[in-house]
Amino acid sequence: KYHEQLVELKGNIRVLCRVKPVLKEDQQDEGQTVVVTTDPNNESALTVMSKGKGRSFELDKVFHPHATQEEVFQEIEPLVTSCIDGYHVCIFAYGQTGSGKTYTMEGSVENPGINQRALKHLFSEIEDRKDMWSYSISVSSVEIYNEVLRDLLSKDGEKLDIKINPDGTGQLHVPGLRVIEVKSFQHIKKILAVARRNRITFGTQMNQHSSRSHALLTITVLGTDLASGAKTTGKLNLVDLAGSERVWKSGAEGDRLKEAQNINRSLLALGDVIQALRGRQTHIPFRNSRLTYLLQDSLGKGNKTAMVVQISSLERNVGETMCSLKFAQRVC
Ligand code: ADP
Ligand code: MG
Repeated sequence: KYHEQLVELKGNIRVLCRVKPVLKEDQQDEGQTVVVTTDPNNESALTVMSKGKGRSFELDKVFHPHATQEEVFQEIEPLVTSCIDGYHVCIFAYGQTGSGKTYTMEGSVENPGINQRALKHLFSEIEDRKDMWSYSISVSSVEIYNEVLRDLLSKDGEKLDIKINPDGTGQLHVPGLRVIEVKSFQHIKKILAVARRNRITFGTQMNQHSSRSHALLTITVLGTDLASGAKTTGKLNLVDLAGSERVWKSGAEGDRLKEAQNINRSLLALGDVIQALRGRQTHIPFRNSRLTYLLQDSLGKGNKTAMVVQISSLERNVGETMCSLKFAQRVC
């Protein structure tokens, strides 16, 4: 039996896998056989039937198709909490288009995803600590499409530049980026709605679909110790990545090909960075894509990362599923 063992995860990178349930609309005539099996007795393994062989994968955690948004968030919650203590955290949703990335991050009205739950959790945590600490929470949101950065909280969607170290502190700076201080959980719902609407609008302006862009929501948590005045800055980056499907294999040309190459390049760059961080390399190749460049102050050593690899369980997607699991294996 072919066995692909994912190295046990130590340190600060957790790789989770969420298997999408088979929905009514997924049931077409062809390729609807389920080829991914999860093991009810083992929360970190799954098997994919591919080319007549069963291939086993091991990850930090596998969410079965029936896992709820609540269960997924429970795994992520400790990372969110650590932002309050000053950690920089990245949470990525990775996978082919239609595998449930946006469902996991944004969710639906009835079933909100990680983004909303994280903010809700942050507000309740800071409320619990208010006798000792004062906090302010602010958010920004950008889209990266074809290596161009746009502000999702501003209507005109200006293109933005990333500047490194303009003030000599080594900090990353994005001039003109809108950063909104969030006063309440109700307020954040409005802000998230603006980002969602803008993402759709920019998408149609460029005649492109959101599945080809990365969407980032960054939450900054500034804390002040009321007794000593000591300060902490935590950051939570919630990233709905562009679809990982291999478009260039389907004969894409021109703009479509360039776009596919850019997506591929940035996902590869992300994989390279995470792999380098896990190893002993001193050079971390942050500069190879806008995405890794922008996230470098949150991806470096001492920070925390979770990657939710989304997969379909259907036969017709098995090629992409194998690719996504191999990506997971590489960053493990
Ligand atoms: P992606 O963002 O990866 O392209 P989506 O999140 O848009 O994929 O998911 C595709 C469709 O499947 C959407 O209609 C979404 O609501 C649905 N979906 C995805 N995951 C789940 C899930 N765990 N439970 C119910 N519906 C889901
Ligand atoms: Mg999506």
